Amino acid sequence: MKICDKDLCYGCKACQNICSKNAVSFESDIYGKAIPVIDPEKCIDCGLCKKICPVNTNFINQPDFKQLCYAAYAKDTISSKNCASGGISNAFCKYILENNGVVFGAAFDENINLKHIMVRDKADLEKLKGSKYVYSDIAFTFRQAKDMLDKGVNVLFTGTPCQIAGFNNFLQKPYPNLITVDLICHGAPPASYLSEYLNKQYPDKNYNNLTFRGEKDFYFELKYFSDIISQEPAKYDIYFSAFLSGLSYRDNCYTCKFASRNRISDITIGDFWGIDRSTLKKPYKGKISVVLINTQKGKAFFDNTRHLFYYEARSIAEAAKNNEQLEHPSNPPEPDRDIFLKNYPDKGFLGAVSLTKIYKNVKHNQKIRKLKSSFPYTMLKKYKKKFLSK
Ligand SMILES: Cc1cc2nc3c(=O)[nH]c(=O)nc-3n(C[C@H](O)[C@H](O)[C@H](O)COP(=O)(O)OP(=O)(O)OC[C@H]3O[C@@H](n4cnc5c(N)ncnc54)[C@H](O)[C@@H]3O)c2cc1C
Repeated sequence: MKICDKDLCYGCKACQNICSKNAVSFESDIYGKAIPVIDPEKCIDCGLCKKICPVNTNFINQPDFKQLCYAAYAKDTISSKNCASGGISNAFCKYILENNGVVFGAAFDENINLKHIMVRDKADLEKLKGSKYVYSDIAFTFRQAKDMLDKGVNVLFTGTPCQIAGFNNFLQKPYPNLITVDLICHGAPPASYLSEYLNKQYPDKNYNNLTFRGEKDFYFELKYFSDIISQEPAKYDIYFSAFLSGLSYRDNCYTCKFASRNRISDITIGDFWGIDRSTLKKPYKGKISVVLINTQKGKAFFDNTRHLFYYEARSIAEAAKNNEQLEHPSNPPEPDRDIFLKNYPDKGFLGAVSLTKIYKNVKHNQKIRKLKSSFPYTMLKKYKKKFLSK
């Protein structure tokens, strides 16, 4: 039995979570992307995996609710300093934990594998903060979350839109004690790319944490507890540059049906790239989030948590400015994407990226940086400053 077209598979693992016979497992395809495989010995052909797969489902908008759009950031700026944008997710999570609930989100383990986990304790919320630019392994958290929901516990589940679509389908019915939050998402690379990159670039190093959008925003920052192992701005880092240029996503991301203003969750959060700061009622220089309220339940939740934020109503058109994922999926950078895919099966992630223009740009940036920090260059700069400015 085939669950879905493998090229379109989101990797959300709804199929694996729903299978009562545990007949579905995941393995890598030739591009390193995790896809489902069915064990024919265990499969009883019930068809449930196929039925709930988001690839095979048509999603419709919430017709009875007029979507609301806010620019917002958490008032607790100390707690949100390691967050990706306005610390909205973190504030939502704290609220749920304070109200007899549990939260699910993406966290790196000590080997830098990104997995969805359940958090009950505020101290563990630190692990969820920040955007991790790799596809998170849902593992069996859909089952775990359902178990909590069935016990009457309040659950907040955050993920990419495809993960939330998979989760909703897996549940097969609405739960009043569930709030879903999805991220505006331009795509996520397969987990195997990041692990290969770390193994090849940092073979003899000890590290147990990685951030992309933490206190140092848009830095590839590798840490061993509080020691910094590497701290590179995105344009000097090959993995980060491949991600930002759209080279390295799972191939389904380029046809993602959730990259639109029609959202799948109660609340959508993202970066408010297009905001016109000169029109803000309360001037602010820090990171600002987009918050889209998509359902009545989402509105009720936002009403309960709004005291945690500075927020003001903005238009969705403004939120979509510089944020194409609210209009359409990312476009692959050609011809680089094609070159990458042709070479990946033989050469792996680094080998395939190294044949693209994106790699050449990173190397060029690194060369310029080296030149600028070299002795004659700094002398020349000092000389120019001293004599030529007079
Ligand atoms: C792969 C990816 C692509 C993104 N693309 C865009 C974009 O194109 N435009 C845009 O506006 N915003 C994008 N975002 C969202 C944005 O970067 C922030 O995550 C969002 O604004 C929330 O910020 P925050 O400060 O409220 O979250 P924080 O308080 O920092 O919390 C981060 C939340 O994101 C979740 N999370 C982190 N990484 C992942 C992951 N890989 N998979 C699933 N959940 C994860 C965590 O569980 C946590 O709940 C993207 C995020 C990711 C992970």
